[in-house]
Amino acid sequence: MKERNFLEILYEAVIYSFGMVLAKYDAYSSEMMLADVGRHIRGYLEAEGIDLSHENTAEETIQKVVSVFMTRGFVKDLVFEKDVNNEKVIHSVWRGLRGAKAYEKLYSETKNPFISCPINAIILDFLHQNGCTLFLHDTKFHPDQDRVDCWEEIRPNIPAPEGSLDIVVLENARLYELAREKSKRLEEEIGYRRKLEENLRGYTIRLEKAVEERTMELTAQVKKTEEANSRLAILSITDDLTGTYNRRFLHERLKEEVGRAARYDQVLSCIMLDIDNFKQINDTHGHLAGDYVIKELAGILKESVRAIDIVARFGGDEFTILLPNTDMVEAVKLVKRIRDIVDRHRFKFNEIYMNITVSLGVCMNHDSKDEDQLIKCADDALLHAKANGRNQWFCMPCCNHAFPDNPAQAEKL
Ligand code: GH3
Ligand code: MG
Repeated sequence: MKERNFLEILYEAVIYSFGMVLAKYDAYSSEMMLADVGRHIRGYLEAEGIDLSHENTAEETIQKVVSVFMTRGFVKDLVFEKDVNNEKVIHSVWRGLRGAKAYEKLYSETKNPFISCPINAIILDFLHQNGCTLFLHDTKFHPDQDRVDCWEEIRPNIPAPEGSLDIVVLENARLYELAREKSKRLEEEIGYRRKLEENLRGYTIRLEKAVEERTMELTAQVKKTEEANSRLAILSITDDLTGTYNRRFLHERLKEEVGRAARYDQVLSCIMLDIDNFKQINDTHGHLAGDYVIKELAGILKESVRAIDIVARFGGDEFTILLPNTDMVEAVKLVKRIRDIVDRHRFKFNEIYMNITVSLGVCMNHDSKDEDQLIKCADDALLHAKANGRNQWFCMPCCNHAFPDNPAQAEKL
């Protein structure tokens, strides 16, 4: 923090001290008040870090005060003298006040050299502590003067003549007014600042609440959007009617699985399945019954495969089943099982019982088949199964060798 100017502090101290003292007393009287002013000034200066602490004797203390004021440039010199005059001991305080700014300001407010000089007030305070009385004899002074030939007589334990200091105090009542105005302004400013702080605090609280509410709203929105996105993501790969994967997803996965199987030299089987004479179901029982059959069949297919297998609706009454890590032996076991289950299953819609059969084509990833070739191979096999009388499975010659003893051709159900 920047060190504050001594004269500024002093001026503040005087204003403050007169305010304190005059606010305390009802009437202006006696040098007690002046000593009180001195005490307050001293306290104020000490609180500001200016050391005026007590020494052993009043003289030493006064010298110390004077030296403090001198080092701060407030006075040029201040002589403390002891005179022996007609056997009376008289202490005289000589002032060499400079036209320092703070002093000038004080003087211009008070027009009184004695009281407007804070040193005097402090000295008076010290003298009182030591049981001395200080009389003011001359108030003629002008700050332009370098040295003032006014002096104060100090006598031990002699009460001040009546009214000797009253005039001084009265003249300084204006200082009190000043102090009062200043403290009023300060209070107003403090009040204004407090109100401002309160408003700010209120505003901050409202702002924090609004931010919190908005954050909660946004978090809820983000959560909703995330949920909607994941729903959309699921919808985008799902077939509406059956809940199986759709054709787009099938192609993505097919590509991935064919690539993976090729990289790790793994087997991959693929089944194409189509309902036999499905048009008749629609024509006989209506499209809703047809829808139902497709859905029910999808359920049977999903239940018949492992979790890693992919059941997708290829379109219409046609489904594709991808079987990762599955050779022809296992794939044929599955197509047989599916054919049997469907053949035995009784489809019931609106009290109507229906029976259907399915034809299946099965193939495997031999001869570096890519995804299109795999689907085509399974589809060709399906067409053969259809052409051969339906309700059966078939595999193309290129896949025969993957099937021990080549029973595929022989199996005509
Ligand atoms: P095939 O044994 O040769 O397969 O004879 P099919 O009658 O089943 O002939 P195809 O597979 O070519 O006909 C499929 C029919 O399925 C044609 C279409 O009207 C019907 N279809 C396609 N999608 C749906 C659907 O979502 N719901 C219903 N109810 N019918 C559908
Ligand atoms: Mg069909």
